[in-house]
Amino acid sequence: MARILDGKRVRDQILDELRPRIETLRRGGRPPGLAVVLVGNDPASEIYVRGKVKACEELGIYSEQHTPPASISTTELAALVDSLNRRPEIDGILVQMPLPKHVDSRAVLLAVAPEKDVDGFHPLNVGHLVNGRPAPRACTPSGIMEMLRRYEIPVSGQRAVVVGRSDIVGKPMALLLLHAHATVTICHSRTSNLAGECRQADILVAAIGKAALVRGDFIKEGATVIDVGMNRITERAEAERIYGTSSEKLAELDRKGNLLLGDVHPLEVSARAGAYTPVPGGVGPLTIAMLMSNTVEAAERRLP
Ligand code: NDP
Repeated sequence: MARILDGKRVRDQILDELRPRIETLRRGGRPPGLAVVLVGNDPASEIYVRGKVKACEELGIYSEQHTPPASISTTELAALVDSLNRRPEIDGILVQMPLPKHVDSRAVLLAVAPEKDVDGFHPLNVGHLVNGRPAPRACTPSGIMEMLRRYEIPVSGQRAVVVGRSDIVGKPMALLLLHAHATVTICHSRTSNLAGECRQADILVAAIGKAALVRGDFIKEGATVIDVGMNRITERAEAERIYGTSSEKLAELDRKGNLLLGDVHPLEVSARAGAYTPVPGGVGPLTIAMLMSNTVEAAERRLP
């Protein structure tokens, strides 16, 4: 029987460990501070930001939201970020992605002061990651490393395959696994034999954005499977293809109008993997926990 890697449990551990550090900062003068910039009205982004602000409230981290309209220009957004860079009580700045098409996302990320870049997306921090130097790390991949560490899943000497090469997940994930001494392969949409590459993996990370693309026969018997994907499906035919016709999942689809699925086939993974992260309840909760951790670390680093 495959072991389920419980992201909520790991999140709670991480948050509990942060509480005394936040209390020390608070006693020392002020709590850590996080500014979240949410441009426009993208419903998914609104949900993510709400989760981040709620986590701050629960932990006693000061947070504030800036919600400029979707019509904001790159220059105006960079100026907003710069005003946050200058505020001493703000330790972390998060610009929620994606930004509207007319905004130059790279220019905005570059405007965030590297020491306040709690998402770890600034090129300077990416460079530190490549060099293996301490700096804020991208939240989702660093959360996955915490999960592997806390479940005592060996990484050193293991074969890891990361499917996806985005700047947010795939690339930093591959680098973190490499620094932890895994032998790493990165796959993407042009990989010629995806299933064959995946079958080599002792640790398989799927960060693709395609519901249930990774099937049971992609998975080496006993492998650890980390499913980063968050895909909302609305089509009954697609749900039937994945879950069959008699599933309670179809009833859930009828009730809610959509289903949240990972990139890994939810039924086939448990038959092959040694351990896996479910969707929901796997990787998702870790991302916010690591954002909180990066914010606390940024505040500690900025202590006089
Ligand atoms: P991107 O769209 O930026 O990247 C997707 C990657 O998957 C690309 O490298 C792409 O290859 C690759 N890919 C696409 N189709 C295939 C295919 N058929 N075969 C092999 N590779 C393929 O997505 P993100 O990295 O931002 O996110 C990936 C998933 O993770 C999404 O579902 C997202 O919602 C989720 N996510 C979840 C988070 C969480 O907290 N749980 C946080 C962040 C993301 P190519 O480069 O060649 O185009």
